[in-house]
Amino acid sequence: MWKKTSKYLPPHQVVISEEIFRLTGSYKVCWICGDEEDLYLLDIRTENGIVMEIILCGDCHRIQEGMGLKVIDAKKII
Ligand SMILES: [Zn+2]
Repeated sequence: MWKKTSKYLPPHQVVISEEIFRLTGSYKVCWICGDEEDLYLLDIRTENGIVMEIILCGDCHRIQEGMGLKVIDAKKII
């Protein structure tokens, strides 16, 4: 899931997320801030219409949606 999604993310975000995965040893963390609780699996649609999955915590989910992230579906996973 990360391999597919990372192709469509801005390069700086990929670097940050890979650092988070390295530190936590898991992909099941918030891909923006590294939180391990209150996590959501989101289906999002990019500007060019590509649908991909990301994992974000509740706070980052709200912030990103406020910044215009198009969330199609959100499932709470932790
Ligand atoms: Zn977060």
